Amino acid sequence: MNFTLKIMGTASAMPISDRNPSAQVLSVHGRLFLIDCGEGTQQQLRRQKLSFLKIEAVFLSHLHGDHVFGIFGLLSTMAMLGRTQELHIYAPPAFGDVLRFFLSSFGDGIAYEIIHHPLEMQAPEVVHTSRYVEVRAFPLRHKIECYGFRFDELVPRRRPSNEPFRARSYAYCSDTMPFPELAEWVKGVDILYHESTYPAEMADKAAARFHSTSLQAAECARDAGVGRLLLGHYSSRVRDLSVYAREAQAVFPDTVAADDGDTFDF
Ligand SMILES: [Zn+2]
Ligand SMILES: [Zn+2]
Repeated sequence: MNFTLKIMGTASAMPISDRNPSAQVLSVHGRLFLIDCGEGTQQQLRRQKLSFLKIEAVFLSHLHGDHVFGIFGLLSTMAMLGRTQELHIYAPPAFGDVLRFFLSSFGDGIAYEIIHHPLEMQAPEVVHTSRYVEVRAFPLRHKIECYGFRFDELVPRRRPSNEPFRARSYAYCSDTMPFPELAEWVKGVDILYHESTYPAEMADKAAARFHSTSLQAAECARDAGVGRLLLGHYSSRVRDLSVYAREAQAVFPDTVAADDGDTFDF
């Protein structure tokens, strides 16, 4: 359990009865990193028995509602739970205005410090260094400014010298259309999450809306030589979800169509 990914939501724009919008938690030696925070994330955290107060940092890919509408309720609840530890939020610059508006209207009881780190890079850059993990952000290609995140485990300061150490890694590619540099930036990770909003036959729609198909996600995984591919951010128009994994597996066999509540150990 010391490097574990929990999926909170795999829906795209529209929350549906059995699927929440995007949110994930990467747990590294007990420290929690929240990646995107769609509506319903608080309840998903409760169901998964994840402590709100152990969240060290939040990574928001972009300011579409299905990736951020859950953060404001969560910030309030953290205050009610007595959080005193500062919270780091990595998000595009435009999040600053939204956060200021939220704090001016609803921030009375929030006693802990919320530090917004604006993301503005053109290529991968280390944004957060924790005791056990280093996080890089990199730009994606979406309708609005959008970022992905790569988590690389750091060599522990103290470990038995005769024990081999293999650093684990995870990359999260939020809403994006395919582009050539992406595979380079997520190269060799153990697990790659790549959005796959549409099946291959809806490639026109994917391109028009700056999204990817299951096939394009699989091509990225193959080119990057990752260990395993997770799909998500499914369009609510697609009824039979088995099509996503089937299509992707033809190109990249170790593909899993992620579901809300899934857990992946590294
Ligand atoms: Zn989205
Ligand atoms: Zn989006």
